[in-house]
Amino acid sequence: MTISTFAELGLSERLLRALKDAQYTKPTPIQQQAIPMLLEGADLLGIAQTGTGKTAAFALPLLQNLEEDGIKCRPRSPRALILAPTRELALQISDSIKTYGRHMRLRHSVVMGGVSQKAQVDALRRGIDILVATPGRLLDLINQRHANLGQCEYLILDEADRMFDMGFIRDVRKIASQLPEERQTLLFSATMPAEVAKLAGEILYQPERVEIAARTVAVESIEQRVHHLDKTAKRGLLVQLLEAPDLSRVIVFTRTKRGADQVVKRLSQHGVSAQALHGNKSQGARQKALENFRNGRSRVLVATDIASRGIDIDDVSHVINYELPNEPESYVHRIGRTARAGAEGIAISFCDLSERPHLRSIEKLIRRQLDVIGEVPAEPATPARKKSKGAPKRPAANTNRRRRRPRRPDRRAA
Ligand code: AMP
Repeated sequence: MTISTFAELGLSERLLRALKDAQYTKPTPIQQQAIPMLLEGADLLGIAQTGTGKTAAFALPLLQNLEEDGIKCRPRSPRALILAPTRELALQISDSIKTYGRHMRLRHSVVMGGVSQKAQVDALRRGIDILVATPGRLLDLINQRHANLGQCEYLILDEADRMFDMGFIRDVRKIASQLPEERQTLLFSATMPAEVAKLAGEILYQPERVEIAARTVAVESIEQRVHHLDKTAKRGLLVQLLEAPDLSRVIVFTRTKRGADQVVKRLSQHGVSAQALHGNKSQGARQKALENFRNGRSRVLVATDIASRGIDIDDVSHVINYELPNEPESYVHRIGRTARAGAEGIAISFCDLSERPHLRSIEKLIRRQLDVIGEVPAEPATPARKKSKGAPKRPAANTNRRRRRPRRPDRRAA
């Protein structure tokens, strides 16, 4: 049976109303597959990246399950925890929960670093149903006894591979160990490196598995071009490309924070409104840069991979890879910023000689050649090629066979 409406997934009338308000007409594939399982209380391993609709896939059943449980939240004891690697993603998840939960009375709040702790402590004291948190600040608050996860029956880890990249896996393990064994746990990751598969094996109980291939998100709807050029020609080409007005809302990716600042400076000298988004900026500056980009005040956002991860901005007309990432998966994440929720987008990559191995890895991963614009300069006869990293490993099979707790009873039958 093909599911074409949210009502067929078993969602409550309040949620259906909120989805109608948000003008969602049809569930995305991950929503179709995950929502019924999650309403039944299953654990889930979701292999999917941003842009697939994964936030609604976990947030909708969570809201419904919490409402059906009918438990009142107690001070300092959130009933559900969503962990995100970056502050931007945490704020975005919180916005989504606000949108989907607007006809419900569940409380949600965000705990993250980079801003004052006081408001977060006050919110915890008042009681929170859904806590969205970055790991470091949450651990601080737990250690100071402002938060207690002993009553928390739902745990969702979003972008687990990025948590690993950012060195948060130990913190995540510590946090997970504070929750009751009897709980529902979800883990989402765009890729499945061995460390993440290991974590999944430890914290999930007989999980269902939903995999939305990166290829179906990125490749099919995005026009992907590459310019082969000298490193020194990149700045000039960027300025030249931005002379075209159809590049109306552009994210430029650089590999380093310094590189991002330099590109912003260069663009500003040419009268192009641009702002940088990277980890050296304060939380306030990052939010401001995002806000200015969202509302169109700045036309170009220049970002590094980590800072851009998970940011959700509609109508990005073009993604420009000023430098190619050395991990091919990052390319897919980057270009996923354009063509969100079915829109068409364009990704333009700059590739100098030293980046050719990265380009080959990317093309291998996405199983497609980028459209070459202009000439391809010949490679030297004995190129100093680094070994290509190749396609990512297949996700490791989940070998968790430990029965740590009984499967939850069928919620809807109860
Ligand atoms: P996510 O993958 O959760 O970051 O979602 C990507 C974008 O798609 C967000 O802007 C969502 O608001 C939007 N979205 C999610 N599900 C749907 C849907 N079923 N219909 C339309 N838009 C959606």
